[in-house]
Parts: sequence; C-alpha cells; structure tokens
Amino acid sequence: MKRLAVLGSTGSIGVSTLDIVAGHADRFKVVALTAGRNLPLLEEQIARFHPEVVAVPDLENARRLRERIGPCGPRVLYGTEGLIACAAESPADMVVSAIVGAAGLEPTLAAIQAGRDVALANKETLVIAGELVMAAVAASGCQLFPVDSEHSAIFQSLAGHSKTDVRRLILTASGGPFRNWSLDDLIEVTPQDALAHPNWTMGRKITIDSATMMNKGLEVIEAHWLFNLPVDRIAVHIHPESIVHSMVEYVDGAIIAQLGIPDMTTPIAYALSYPERLALDLPPLDLCRLGQLHFAAPDSQCFPCLGLAYDAIRRGGTTPAVLNAANELAVDAFLHEKVGFLDIPRIIAAVVEEHASTAATSLDQVLAADRWAREMARDIIQELQGASYP
Ligand code: NAD
Ligand code: MG
Repeated sequence: MKRLAVLGSTGSIGVSTLDIVAGHADRFKVVALTAGRNLPLLEEQIARFHPEVVAVPDLENARRLRERIGPCGPRVLYGTEGLIACAAESPADMVVSAIVGAAGLEPTLAAIQAGRDVALANKETLVIAGELVMAAVAASGCQLFPVDSEHSAIFQSLAGHSKTDVRRLILTASGGPFRNWSLDDLIEVTPQDALAHPNWTMGRKITIDSATMMNKGLEVIEAHWLFNLPVDRIAVHIHPESIVHSMVEYVDGAIIAQLGIPDMTTPIAYALSYPERLALDLPPLDLCRLGQLHFAAPDSQCFPCLGLAYDAIRRGGTTPAVLNAANELAVDAFLHEKVGFLDIPRIIAAVVEEHASTAATSLDQVLAADRWAREMARDIIQELQGASYP
C-alpha cells in the first residue's frame, strides 16, 4: 500500500490523482491533502479519502474547516508551514506536487529533503530552483517522477537506453488556441478566448501559459533539470493533435516517442505506480481513424515567451525564478483584464531585463529573487494599466 500526500488536491491534477486512487484503493492510501480556496471540495475529499492531516492557506479557513468537519476529522493545518508538514512530516511514501505556481516550491523541496518520493506536476519548482532541487534529490536519494505529459513521455522513451546516447529531446506543443493567428489578431484576445484550450482541460494559469507558449518554455527548463541536458539540445515541435507527447532522438538517428490520447490520467498513473502500469479505463488511441499527425516549427514572433524562457535558462542563476514570478503576475493581470494578451511577454521581458542575476543555490536567494520580480512586475502592470495598446 503506497501512502500518498496530495498537495493541491482540489485542482485539475489533484482531482485526477484522487480519481486514480479511488479506482485502485487496494494500492494507494491518502494520508494528507492540501487545498487553496475550494473548501467544499476539500471537505468532500476528506469524507471520501480519510486523510490524517490537511492544510489550507490561512487560519481563518482552517477554523472554518475545523468547525465543519468536527473533532473526528483530520488535523487541520494552515499556511506554508501546514503545506510543509503535509509534505514532509505526514507518513507519506510519495508526495504528489500539484499546487500551481511558486507556492509549490517550499513543500516540494521539504518533501525531497525528507526523502519522500515525489510525483512532480508543479513545473515551477524546477524552473525557480532547479539547481537546488536536483542537488536535494541527489542528497536525499529520493526519486522524482515527472507528471507533466511531455516529461513523462521522455522518461518513458529513455527507459532501457544510455543517457550518453541521447542527441536531443524533442518536446511537443499543441500550439494552443491561437496557433496560426497573426500578431494583429492576438491584440484582441480575451481571457475567455485564451481559456478555451483545444486539446487539454487544465487549471487557469497553465491554460494561459499554453496560449502564450510560456508553458513550453517552462517545460524546456523543467526538462533541462530533470534530464540534465543543455537547453541547446532540447527542441520544441508544434504538434496540434497532442498525440505524440514528446520524443528522444539518439545519436544513431533513432527517435523514440510515447503516444497516447491527451489525458493526464496516464502520466499521473505512471508516476504513481512506476515501474508498473495501472490498468486504466480510457478510450483507446485510434491512429487509423486519426489518419494524420502534423509537426511544425514554433512561431517566435507571435509567441515570444518560448524564447524568453530559453534566454532565461541560458542566463541562469536567479533569472528563471524572475521569469516565472513575472509570468505569474502577468497572467493574473491578464485574467483580471488589467493588461492585454500581448502585454504578458512585454511585462516578463521588462522585468527580466532589469534583473541582475545572482547564484540560485539557496532557498533564500531564489525566494528573494521571486519577491523582487513580483514587486517589479506589479509596478510595470500598474504603468501599463490604462495605457492604450499597443
Ligand atoms: P489548478 O489551478 O487546477 O490547481 C492548483 C491547486 O493548487 C488547487 O488545489 C489550488 O487550491 C492549489 N493552490 C493554488 N494556489 C495555492 C497556494 N498559494 N497555496 C496552496 N495551494 C494553492 O492547477 P493544475 O492545472 O492542477 O496545475 C497544477 C500544477 O501542475 C501546475 O504547476 C501546472 O503547471 C502543472 N501541470 C498541470 C497539468 C494539467 O493538465 N492541469 C499538466 C501538466 C502540469
Ligand atoms: Mg505539459
């Protein structure tokens, strides 16, 4: 029986994880859950999975939850300390890291330092603090399993091969809802347009990241740390069908890919049950019916976020943490209709430009860079608000 702590249990990945657990109750036991604002759903999950401990963002929500679940319920913790306790002090064998954004970093790092295996969905953790996190993985001897579909595909395509034989990793990207749009069309994009992803159902932030292609930029950085390859050997191909989830090219020219329908259940389940595979009740991939698969190069003019991410990891140090923080604020401002869609890369580029990168080998260094970038992004967003665009 594998004991799980699910961080971000009320989100898209968290809910899919718990569905897998419910279908394989003989293999998994939930010992900890954490949620943001959706207390009603957390309450339902508590009644269904009986965790020993849960965490919510603040004392007020903790009090409210304690009142509702009564004295027989789990321990209710709150704040970053609560998240860390669920990740590192609960009796979990594996921590599913599925909080969105920089808030996922500290509990994920704490889980790793405590020697827990981690199923990593929160890509921001490696973007912000890849060097630090991979050093902690090596020191603790825990295992880090990718949940992101591209990284799961690469992980699966590397199995049985020598890493020294790898020439390139090729990440696929759907291209999002605005593939083939012109710059003029992109000026008018609304949050509703951007939230309508053609292939994947995901949380709001990652859906906007997919529309700007920052998601793929964050994934290039994530792949760099997970698979220990320079970004110059990590390519991105647009693949609108989202069937080939990513590929590994070897020195002899062979390319190994992993294919499947676009459904996060498969990569989540593989991270939970590795090296075994769980029988899942998903529709099969019918390649004959599909007929064709397409691939193209990304459009760097309409989607500059991908290039910004490559530049940030090349600069290294605290720059990727700054890129991530600026992106989080820019996406939030776009979702609240404070800035336009094309302002997102502008804001990020302006913040990164102002940043004097330093080493990112301690948590304090990356958290300080994250705070600095948020303040800078806030100022730029305020300046942009009300300014006519472009
Ligand atoms: P989501 O917005 O649906 O869920 C996020 C979860 O984190 C929720 O439970 C929310 O309550 C919690 N949360 C948010 N802010 C918090 C905070 N400040 N403190 C504590 N908890 C907080 O997001 P998602 O789509 O499930 O994505 C989660 C992570 O997985 C992201 O990093 C995303 O990039 C990654 N990911 C998601 C998908 C996908 O298909 N959804 C695919 C690959 C990777
Ligand atoms: Mg992905």
